[in-house]
Amino acid sequence: MCDEAFPNKSNTPADMMAKRIFPAVFKCIYCGSKSAKLSAEHILPESLGGKWELPKSSCDKCSKITSKFEMDCARALFGPTRVKLKIPRKNGKKLPKTLSVSFSKLEFNQGRKIAQENLVFEEMDVDPAPAFFVLPLFWRPGIFTPIGLSGRLEEFGMRVFNIHLGDLPEGKSNIYSEVAINIISFARLIAKIAHGFAIAVLGLDGLVPFLSKAIIVSDTAVLNFFVGADQRMIMPINSRHEISFEAVKAFVGELLVVRVRLFSAFGTPVYQVVVGSLTEQGAIRLQLPSPPAPPASAAPSGAPCRR
Ligand SMILES: [Zn+2]
Repeated sequence: MCDEAFPNKSNTPADMMAKRIFPAVFKCIYCGSKSAKLSAEHILPESLGGKWELPKSSCDKCSKITSKFEMDCARALFGPTRVKLKIPRKNGKKLPKTLSVSFSKLEFNQGRKIAQENLVFEEMDVDPAPAFFVLPLFWRPGIFTPIGLSGRLEEFGMRVFNIHLGDLPEGKSNIYSEVAINIISFARLIAKIAHGFAIAVLGLDGLVPFLSKAIIVSDTAVLNFFVGADQRMIMPINSRHEISFEAVKAFVGELLVVRVRLFSAFGTPVYQVVVGSLTEQGAIRLQLPSPPAPPASAAPSGAPCRR
């Protein structure tokens, strides 16, 4: 399943905005149901321009849950970004031609501020409208921190990414923007993208997944442990969104990490999601060396399920 479009051991990030349909799963990748009606999962949400589909992989119940946190993030974090970057909308709906921008005007007298106007909202044409977005900066996934420390999703920084600030309209001296972020929804979104990607490329028998349930029930302890970010600044390769695999040795053995980067051209963070441990089949498909077998005494109670 590793053709040239997929990341392989060269670890070249793949672009998720080129159409790609993966083999159908015939099982919900979250709750494991085979009997429920299954629909296609978009690995990256369509609202961010994602075009990779995983057919018959999500039941109605799980789809409703994932759609909810996807939409929360798409609206709150990326609403103006989607308009500004002209990311096509679902079902061919037209993109708005204007963006709502909030300004204020500061008045100075001999260098001292004497008055501040209330915020004013103005509809501006998309091209000249100033726009930016913010993304959380996470620590490394908890599993990679010294034993005893959990991850710290709740302690995050933010960075603003300037899309286009341009010249301000006549008489306006400040731009304001407010963003309400549900950090757990964001961590679930990143985990969902990584989990879907790993199963799309490796198949259900390719890995023992860690996050199927945590994504659906919003288990923050598990998300803390497996979701984080690379702490280095990394040059972007693709223009929009990047995704790739990385095998990482941890104190519990070799783990599969999916690296997710949204809107990479702006120098955004590379999120790391520890999606699971590789099975032999998974290692073959990824063309990575097989992970060493764990010592018998340390075998987990839920042994890898292989078809
Ligand atoms: Zn399900």
